Amino acid sequence: MTEELKVPFGRRADGTIVHISELTDAENGLRCDCTCPKCGRPLQARNLGKVKVPHFSHNVQTGCEGATESALHSFAKEVFARNSSVRVPEETTYVGCRSATVSEAVDVPYTGVALEQSMGGVIPDVVLQRADDKPPLLVEVAVTHFADEEKCARLEALGYPCIEIDLQDMVSLEEFDRMAVEEALIASEERKIWLFHPNERDVQARLVQEMQQAQEEREREQREAEERRQKAEDRTRKDRERVMSAKYQQMMAARTEKDLAANPIWVANRRTFGIPEGAETPWYLNHEINGEYLWTVHRTVWQSALFRTWVFNKQDRSRFVSVKYALETLHERHPEIWERSLYWAWKDTGDRVRAPAAVIGEYFKVLADCGFLWEDHGTGNPFGWRFVCVKPALVILPPEYNSPRYLPIDGGVHDTETGRDIMFTT
Ligand SMILES: [Zn+2]
Repeated sequence: MTEELKVPFGRRADGTIVHISELTDAENGLRCDCTCPKCGRPLQARNLGKVKVPHFSHNVQTGCEGATESALHSFAKEVFARNSSVRVPEETTYVGCRSATVSEAVDVPYTGVALEQSMGGVIPDVVLQRADDKPPLLVEVAVTHFADEEKCARLEALGYPCIEIDLQDMVSLEEFDRMAVEEALIASEERKIWLFHPNERDVQARLVQEMQQAQEEREREQREAEERRQKAEDRTRKDRERVMSAKYQQMMAARTEKDLAANPIWVANRRTFGIPEGAETPWYLNHEINGEYLWTVHRTVWQSALFRTWVFNKQDRSRFVSVKYALETLHERHPEIWERSLYWAWKDTGDRVRAPAAVIGEYFKVLADCGFLWEDHGTGNPFGWRFVCVKPALVILPPEYNSPRYLPIDGGVHDTETGRDIMFTT
């Protein structure tokens, strides 16, 4: 006899299911008066004598299989018939990264039990009938055969709610814990899953709709942001065209020249440097550099601001100044002196506007030629150029030497045309 033919359950004459461990010694052999829960033929109880593991076996070999499954279905029916409500677990469904609850964990009341009743081409293990017009709750009791895809598809087509209860490790020849199995069938959620819930499709459809709406919302926001960016770009482009026009620049050159004497930044710097009102400005504070159109003020205003911040009385040789830092500082302290549409020009490419960093870098190189700054790093992107202050003083040049031809040196000037140093006599 093979292991498979050792049956753990029999059906008593009154129809109830009995486990082999529950028989008395007197109920040995055919005296157990039990039949097979599957095929209905008589069973012998082998629960005494030399039998290692007590079991039922068919009195006559029949090739009957699935007795355990049938016994459990019958037992489940007994249990459901004694109760009137069954606990079902929560069901959650997922679409993409979204999830939603299909139904909460609840106790479902029912009014009747039917076993292995054919419904629309599928035979659920247990059907729990419900009051009024409520659809029945189907129950699959799984011991060795779990519902496969085909059965699930048929249950889904049927459209009734269906749970599966997993009893596979609760049944053996050795023992049968009626209380534990009853708990698993009725009150517990642990061994139950939903095979089909009629609300799931609606909830999924809602999630899909929510995802589509969110996607449309994102696309609309992106479109609007793109429109805003485009408009801002158009405004900037028009403003740049205006600022870069010859007419505007001529007008600004005349205006800034006229306004310089009263410019509050220059007035304050001039006083700090000790240059009397009306005195000639040192040429290195009034040096023409390509790209001056970046500012709405005379070149002496921004050049004196840079000179005051990074040269005048700056003794700290350990501190580097980078063009990037100087540019940002000048913009932070004096935002009003910049042409607004041009300050960010360094971010663009292919524009004829000169980058602010290149202009300031070029001015710092002039100050380095004059001996005020020492160029520590002056290649690559002007943003990264670095300088150190080595002559933290203003040098007043005699009027005849106040031009870019003459670079200040200690006690005199260097003539860049002749290559000679001219020393002042005191
Ligand atoms: Zn049988």
